[in-house]
Amino acid sequence: MPLPPSRLTREKLASWLRYYGDLDLGSFYRDHVVAAEAAAGPESAPPPAAPAWREPPAPVNRVTVLPVARGPSLFEAAERREGETLPIIQEDLGECTRCKLHRHRTKIVFGVGNPQAELVFVGEGPGHDEDVQGIPFVGRAGQLLTQMVEAMGLCRDDVYICNVIKCRPPENRTPEKDEIATCSPFLLRQLAVIAPKVVVCLGNVAAQTLLGTNKPISHFRGQWFDFRGSRLLATYHPAYLLRNPAAKGEVWADLRKVMTYLGLTPRKR
Ligand code: SF4
Repeated sequence: MPLPPSRLTREKLASWLRYYGDLDLGSFYRDHVVAAEAAAGPESAPPPAAPAWREPPAPVNRVTVLPVARGPSLFEAAERREGETLPIIQEDLGECTRCKLHRHRTKIVFGVGNPQAELVFVGEGPGHDEDVQGIPFVGRAGQLLTQMVEAMGLCRDDVYICNVIKCRPPENRTPEKDEIATCSPFLLRQLAVIAPKVVVCLGNVAAQTLLGTNKPISHFRGQWFDFRGSRLLATYHPAYLLRNPAAKGEVWADLRKVMTYLGLTPRKR
């Protein structure tokens, strides 16, 4: 005897779900077992006690973060101090001459934004425009970063933006190890005070400095790491995107992970 249409539809659906389960694609659906039971009809399975769908937890890679500072005073600087604030750190930095980069700079670029930001972007170091204005990410790459922040449904004042080193290297060269070692404790102090939920490293230098690794960013871009109570994710620097616009999709995918974690919704166009 032919099956009634409603029963036929339920059996077809249950069969499709078993097929997806066999392909190991079950997780794309809410819960293929519960769904299959529901599809088979109320007589064959009780309703689930709780919603079946749970967002799978994002994988977190635990890394040992090596101190990058040299000497006891700089090491101490990496830890949060009682009563520490961003203005105190900036005052400590002063008109810094601790490394050779001070010779060529116009202005120290300390950092800008919300001192209680949930999201901090860390770049490499100031370029020409930043050196002139004393503000991070204001050149072409900075404008792209601003667009990225706005696409996330935020504005620059919502986040905090800073760099590993505070003075522009000559000809925008990559900062040298001794310069990073000397300047980065101030970055660590900034991050300790802000205590953001997420730190996004923009480019190799920021990622390698904070994760204490020599591996290129391509090895761990888009992955979550634990970082001193925050989550850290590395993505490409906006300057790289200006040279390689095709990589924008990968960066946007990384930022979507951050948005999901922070509960942000993209700005409507
Ligand atoms: S780069 Fe950092 S450590 Fe070097 S002079 Fe500038 S502020 Fe000081």
